[in-house]
Amino acid sequence: MFSDKDWTSRRRSRHKRAVLLLPLFLSTLLATPAVLAGNIGAIEIGEGEVTVRFDDLVAGASTLLLAGPDRIALDISGAEAGHSPQGAGLVRAVRQGQQGPGTARVVLDLDRPALVSNARFAADGRSLSFRLDPVSAEEFRRASRGPRLELQPPAQFRAKRPEKRYSVTVPIGKPKPAVALPRIEGPDNPRLPLVVIDAGHGGHDPGAISPHSGKREKDITLALARAIRDDLIASGRVRVALTRGDDRYLVLEERYGIARRLKADLFISVHADAAENQQASGASIYTLSEVASDREAARLAARENKANIINGVDLGAHSSDVSSILLDLTQRETMNVASDFARLLQREASGNVKFRTTAHRFASFVVLKAPDTPSVLFETGFISNESDADFLASAEGQKKVARGVRQAVQIHFARQIASN
Ligand code: ZN
Repeated sequence: MFSDKDWTSRRRSRHKRAVLLLPLFLSTLLATPAVLAGNIGAIEIGEGEVTVRFDDLVAGASTLLLAGPDRIALDISGAEAGHSPQGAGLVRAVRQGQQGPGTARVVLDLDRPALVSNARFAADGRSLSFRLDPVSAEEFRRASRGPRLELQPPAQFRAKRPEKRYSVTVPIGKPKPAVALPRIEGPDNPRLPLVVIDAGHGGHDPGAISPHSGKREKDITLALARAIRDDLIASGRVRVALTRGDDRYLVLEERYGIARRLKADLFISVHADAAENQQASGASIYTLSEVASDREAARLAARENKANIINGVDLGAHSSDVSSILLDLTQRETMNVASDFARLLQREASGNVKFRTTAHRFASFVVLKAPDTPSVLFETGFISNESDADFLASAEGQKKVARGVRQAVQIHFARQIASN
C-alpha cells in the first residue's frame, strides 16, 4: 500500500542513514560531481519486489497510479529511459519513455491491481526499490485518486533537478483541441463515397516491433495506408483521406474523429500486430462489439487501446468510455455495415493476403467507436512473424494488400448503391 507512513518513516530514517553514509560521502565528494541524466540501466521484477537501477545519479522519483487499465507510472527526474524487461509476477509489461529532457517515465502495466509500498532509494542513490502488494480493484481506484508521491535519493547522491529547457504538458482526461482535417484526395466529386484510411500508431508510439528486423508497426502501417490510398484513388470510384500522412502521433479519438468530421462513409484502421508466438501469422479483421469474440481479441483490443496511454498518461477523451459503448440504433446499423465490409474484405483480399482461420473477430476497440461511420480494424499480419513482416514491408506485399482493399471497397459501395 502506498501509505503516507512509508514515506514519512523514510524521512525519519534519513538522518540515521546520512550519518552512516558520511565517510562514504566524504570519500566520493571530490570524485563524483552531481551530473545529470543517469540512464535507467536495468529494471528487475521479482516476486512482489521491483528494483530500478541507474547507471548514474538521479534527482528524484515520483509515482502515479492510473486506473483502468491499472498501471503504475514512475517518473524519474534526471534520468534517461533505457530498455524495458519483460513483465513478471504482478507486472504484465514494462514500458519506458522520455517525459521531456531529463525525466524518464517507467510504466508498469499491472496484471492485477497492486499498490507500491516500502519505496526507497539505495544508500548510494543508484537504485530504487519498492514492493508491490495486490489489492482490490476498488482500493486501487481509490488510491489512484490520491496525490503523486515523491521520493528523493540521499542528498549526497542526488543529481541536480533537470533544468526545464522546455516543458511537455499533457492534458489528462480532456481531449485536445480538434486536429486539422487532412486533405481529401481523389476525384473532385463530393458525391463519391469517402474512405478514411488510418495508419495505426505513429510519432512516439511505434506500435509493435519486429524481433527479427526491428521493423516498426508505425512505419509499415503508414506505407500500407499510402499504398491503399493510391490504389483506391486509381479506381476513380472513391475519395480518400489519410488520418496521418507522415510519422505523427494521434490519439484514437482523433483518428475516428477525423472520419466523423469528414463525414466518411468507411473507416479502415491499418495495423500489424505482434504475438509472443512467432509462428503466429496471417491477417484478421476486427469490428466493434461490446463483447470480445475471444480472449485474444480482448487482449489485442486492450493493447491497441493503450495507444492512448503513452508514457502512462491517458491522452484520450476518457478511458472509461472504452467499456461503455453506447449501442443506439444508429450504431447497430453502423456495426452491421462494418461486419458486412469485414467479410467482404476477407473474401476479396484472400487471393493476395494470407488470413487466419478465424479472420473476422470482435472486440471493444476505441478507434472503431465512431457511431455513424462503419469502421474496421485491419490487422494485416503479424510483424512478429518473419515472413509476414517481410511481406508487409515489401512494396509488392503492400500492393497486394491495397489491391484486396480496393476490390472490397468497390463491391461494398456498389452494393450500397444497389440497395438504396
Ligand atoms: Zn497496432
